[in-house]
Amino acid sequence: MAGKPRSDLTSRAWKAQTKRIKHRDGYRCTDCGSESDLTVDHIVPPSVTGIPGDQYPDHMLTTLCRPCNSRKGARLGTRPAYTNPKYA
Ligand SMILES: [Zn+2]
Repeated sequence: MAGKPRSDLTSRAWKAQTKRIKHRDGYRCTDCGSESDLTVDHIVPPSVTGIPGDQYPDHMLTTLCRPCNSRKGARLGTRPAYTNPKYA
């Protein structure tokens, strides 16, 4: 459909997926362990992969709190895909 946004981060499917990711990660930020203000982060951003944000496979998504998410955004591309020591 022309003019339709390529990704829909308000869709039911995306909401279900974010719930699944947070559940998988134990409702904690995978960076600092915070349990508040959690977001689901695209490990490699859609602008890099070209994959619409709502069509990511689970393993390319991770739970981050908002402060970590914005910190990560600032150093975009400087960190390998998945370096959380918890999963090393
Ligand atoms: Zn955090």
